[in-house]
Amino acid sequence: MNTRDIQARLAAYRIDPGPIDGLMGRKTRRAMAAFRWKQGRSIRADFHESGLHRVIIHWPVSGEGASESDLQHYHATVTHDLRVMLGYLKPEANADCTDGRYVAHTRGLNTGSIGVAIDGMIGAQEHPFDPGPAPFNRQMVNVLAVTVADFCLTYDIPLSRYTVLTHAEVEPTLGVWQRGKWDVRWLPGMDKPGGAIKVGDVLRAKIAKAMPREMAA
Ligand SMILES: [Zn+2]
Repeated sequence: MNTRDIQARLAAYRIDPGPIDGLMGRKTRRAMAAFRWKQGRSIRADFHESGLHRVIIHWPVSGEGASESDLQHYHATVTHDLRVMLGYLKPEANADCTDGRYVAHTRGLNTGSIGVAIDGMIGAQEHPFDPGPAPFNRQMVNVLAVTVADFCLTYDIPLSRYTVLTHAEVEPTLGVWQRGKWDVRWLPGMDKPGGAIKVGDVLRAKIAKAMPREMAA
């Protein structure tokens, strides 16, 4: 894990690492020390042995049904018939992206990141808002929540703004530029896209409900 990943993990536990900027400064070092003092172990030891520590949620701009491209670009895709299609590569492939065999779903942030997609949104337009002919629905969001909750439990990923986020939140929250990606700033029932973090919070609340009660923060 790199410095940005460590900062995000500290923030997930509400220990302020200063700005999440990938720079190992005084605030980050103090936050690491605070974690060690509280937990009796290093923040590095808190990461799952697989090397996976983040879930990023996308819409793939596809029609109905998981396409070849979805299976290549995400570890799991929730489809309109409420199935979860697993991608060609397992999440573990993204523990180390230097070998070129990994799932590319988020610019500059694939390492350690599980990519989950909710099918649809082909032809969707941000301004003026038009969801296109294949928007996803509420039932699919529920399946997405269960899927993400499972990944969090499997890989010990804390459910927080910093570790379970939509593609649209990556830039404002983790400071990695994403070329204006707006997935997922809209959910069924909204008449237009909302703020990235606000919509992310709605999704995280659903994911929390899909977790065993004692695990949800
Ligand atoms: Zn995306």
